[in-house]
Amino acid sequence: MPCSDRNDLDDAVEAARAAFPAWSRMPVKERVQVFFRYKRLLERDMDTLAALVSEENGKTMSEAIAEIEKCIELTEFATSLPQLIGGEILEVSKGVECRLDHVPLGVVASIVPFNFPAMVPHWTIPNALALGNCMIVKPSEKVPLSCARTALLLREAGLPDGVFNIVNGDSAIVEAICDHPGIDAVSFVGSTKVAKIVYRRATQHLKRCLALGGAKNHLLVLPDAQPSMTAANVVASMSGCAGQRCMAASAMVAVGPVDDIIGQICEEARKIIPGQNLGAVIDRTAKERIERYITEAERQGARILVDGRGYTVPGKEGGSYVGPTVIDHVRPDMAVASEEIFGPVICIMRVDTLDEALAIENASPYGNAASVFTQNGSYARYVIERASAGMVGVNIGVPVPREPFSFGGWNDSKFGVCDITGKSSIGFWTKLRKSTVKWNPEAGINWMT
Ligand code: NAD
Repeated sequence: MPCSDRNDLDDAVEAARAAFPAWSRMPVKERVQVFFRYKRLLERDMDTLAALVSEENGKTMSEAIAEIEKCIELTEFATSLPQLIGGEILEVSKGVECRLDHVPLGVVASIVPFNFPAMVPHWTIPNALALGNCMIVKPSEKVPLSCARTALLLREAGLPDGVFNIVNGDSAIVEAICDHPGIDAVSFVGSTKVAKIVYRRATQHLKRCLALGGAKNHLLVLPDAQPSMTAANVVASMSGCAGQRCMAASAMVAVGPVDDIIGQICEEARKIIPGQNLGAVIDRTAKERIERYITEAERQGARILVDGRGYTVPGKEGGSYVGPTVIDHVRPDMAVASEEIFGPVICIMRVDTLDEALAIENASPYGNAASVFTQNGSYARYVIERASAGMVGVNIGVPVPREPFSFGGWNDSKFGVCDITGKSSIGFWTKLRKSTVKWNPEAGINWMT
């Protein structure tokens, strides 16, 4: 995949600006017809799209199919936008009415990470376009193929030329996007380090920006949690997509006597076999980074209950596989407890009370997700109200809100206002026009003439 340079970006912006007047003036009900057709194309090509995701990212086919299913759900939501963006109108005094409309911003950009080559681009593409914007997407240089396929399918669905554009590359092209005077808004999904760079740079150029960052999600397991369900959820959350999810469980805070649940977690983890029901991590550097975290925790006195280091999968010896890893007796001051690992690793910290568990969760600079496992409704409510996370779960390992609810964390997991999906994204992708109109209520029938 060749890297785009500033000239390519200029071409993309020019194409998008040229397409904008006609696309933005098209009634929204007409624009979403493209996405009704596009959804059928996603369904038609489900298997090949999933195979492409699996090939370029390394996740399992069933995970890749789930990813395309989520793309379909996100597209469905965009087709419902005409029902959601109806403006408001009110006669505010005699003969005077005020009206509110959601107006597209212009040319917007979306910069995305490697871990969901199809789904994360679909967080932004259908909504931003259906709301009347033209768009430039910058896929991760590690997984550029799925986005390219999206462009072909959008064209087949009847999207006019110039409305959707792709530029490829890494930090240089991202910087050019942030600086480009022809781009009105930038959305970003990736690590917190880069989210801060992009947010600062785009807003310095007075662009609207929404930048989602990394995560360190805590699962609080209480002694009354249902053991088998909890174990299955914890393991699915830490190992799904090889732990490369911003919603993955990475830290578990065990409150009181939960040894039987930890035992079941280890049993469940041992059923996860790299190369079978666990995909590869993105590259060798990632494998080495994850294994370093485990080794460092061991050196600092933590106990490795299930060890995923040093895995090779027969027939795929060159693959970067890390097995599921459960680390017990981790202290909050260890790097493995506080930093994003982005691999199939769960570290367990032990505390005596729920408030101590919440203090650990609250101390994290991130704030994407948190979950509590308990059978007691009032304990659950206590955690929902005190966890410092934008997305909170009860007895759910991956509390991703489904459409039309929106996706977005707090603290260092998100910079900017609004969420990136669902109803909340309307606020990011549009601006509000307030029109005040005065009619003459006393005029005769011929007043207008
Ligand atoms: P990343 O931050 O390295 O890269 C994201 C994008 O930024 C890519 O397109 C990349 O080309 C670009 N980029 C990389 N370095 C840059 C730099 N110095 N300047 C400008 N642009 C740069 O993230 P990644 O490794 O692709 O993805 C993993 C990260 O994404 C994890 O931290 C994960 O938690 C996060 N993520 C967050 C969410 C969320 O919703 N909050 C969702 C998915 C992934």
